Amino acid sequence: MKNTKYVFVTGGVTSSLGKGIIAASLAKLLQERGYSVTIQKLDPYINIDPGTLNPYEHGECYVTDDGAETDLDLGHYERFLNIPTSQANNVTTGRIYQSVINKERRGEFLGKTVQVIPHITDEIKHRIQILGKTGKYDIVITEIGGTVGDIESLPYVESVRQLQWELGQENAIVIHLTLVPYLAAAGELKTKPTQHSVKMLMQSGINPNILVCRTEHEINDSIRRKLALFCNVKKQDVIQSLDAETIYDVPNMMFDEGLDKVVLEKLELSSEKQPKLIDWNDFVNKHKNPKSTIEVGLIGKYVELRDSYKSITEAFIHAGATNEVKVKVRWIHSEELTPENAASKLEGLNGVLVAPGFGERGIEGKIAAVQVARENNIPFFGICLGMQMAVIEYSRNILNLAGANSTEMSEKTAHPVINLMEEQKNITDKGGTMRLGAWDCTIEKDSKVFDAYKSELISERHRHRYEFNNEYLKQIEAAGMKATGVNTKTGLVEIVEIPSHPWFVGVQYHPEYKSTVLNPHPLFVGFIKAALQHSKK
Ligand code: GLN
Repeated sequence: MKNTKYVFVTGGVTSSLGKGIIAASLAKLLQERGYSVTIQKLDPYINIDPGTLNPYEHGECYVTDDGAETDLDLGHYERFLNIPTSQANNVTTGRIYQSVINKERRGEFLGKTVQVIPHITDEIKHRIQILGKTGKYDIVITEIGGTVGDIESLPYVESVRQLQWELGQENAIVIHLTLVPYLAAAGELKTKPTQHSVKMLMQSGINPNILVCRTEHEINDSIRRKLALFCNVKKQDVIQSLDAETIYDVPNMMFDEGLDKVVLEKLELSSEKQPKLIDWNDFVNKHKNPKSTIEVGLIGKYVELRDSYKSITEAFIHAGATNEVKVKVRWIHSEELTPENAASKLEGLNGVLVAPGFGERGIEGKIAAVQVARENNIPFFGICLGMQMAVIEYSRNILNLAGANSTEMSEKTAHPVINLMEEQKNITDKGGTMRLGAWDCTIEKDSKVFDAYKSELISERHRHRYEFNNEYLKQIEAAGMKATGVNTKTGLVEIVEIPSHPWFVGVQYHPEYKSTVLNPHPLFVGFIKAALQHSKK
């Protein structure tokens, strides 16, 4: 059993400073030094999970092996650390309140008035320590979503204060991430916003142990001294975080600044073993020094907010490095694609990825993109809804099943080649009720996917309600599209391919969630490899 130590990461001044990347980078360095580390995100919104949020609101919804629908920062944690996260790694205010209210209904508070302090804060502290109490981790890093000073994050900040007091400063530290803006007119970096945000933390009873300052310009010695003096930290505890060329540079940058070292010192842990980052740097070098460039199209309906496809674009980066090629992404809005203009909008692409999604908007554009890729031998990768669109396109244009569709888009379609899963039929609640999480899939040996995975049994994560309708399987296979992967337990079709095409793969699951720096996803590697070959023709 380990004596788990806790690191809290709070944010000040503004949102979007990259707390998730700082947390993941610190975790990476600590992991490289031999510590077992995990990261958790506490989100202050009242939704139980981001599963019901529109991607425009919150970016991608990331899914874990155990089927939790979570914040996209968990994707960064997995990509950096190469270890899976779980439901326990993402907690929302909604979930906290739900469990407290459920306890109240069960009468577990013995007639007491239920209050934010202590009941909500107790539940938050319990959730923070769940990972620690597994005994698996030396260090748990907890990222507090939102910005200090928000009404919503007050109970979290108060819980951190209590925990630090209960566990002692040598077991629980607070890193505060702030912005040090540069005023071009004055030609100066400004420390006041940081001072104010630290003051705000102090009003809540927390003195940050370490300041990480996001900045566009080097923070010089005198500014460091000023920040230290006004924010009650030592000069070496002021860590600068300059804008990075890529998020994958941040672990090295944090090492150069000594972030991991001051963290270990404060936690009274040895900092003797140095992080080496050998495989990591090998990846970063390949990523930064590609031998050629290819262009792939990402067809989606949320392309205005690129965070909606975070795991996909990161998986491109991993697979690009493996293939030593730069993957340029052409963002294509599915609503702007028509059968008439699709060929010209996809002109020059070396690969086409049709993205996941829900609902009718933009699907005809996706179908048009599939057709162009299929007919012109452009490597095609369909993910979830993208796979369903590939099946629909094939049914309409090769099997001549006019109007073939998914019952998600057209309940009365004459040819429901994609339909609602049996176990979904009586479900009315929207939250957390899809087919979620990891499922085993058996792969056919003579297939592109087997070439990629080099295994007949895989496990991948799902997030959908609709599925390939097996009543059409025979017809579709006879026409040339093959089901090369099926769910080991249920027989549901999970993968379709067109063997006569250079690389045409549709998967019902989400491979992007499992691509990491150290384990780029085999299908992304295969897709990019095929795109690279296409570019050479
Ligand atoms: N809307 C489709 C379904 O529910 C696909 C979901 C997705 O792409 N994640 O089956």
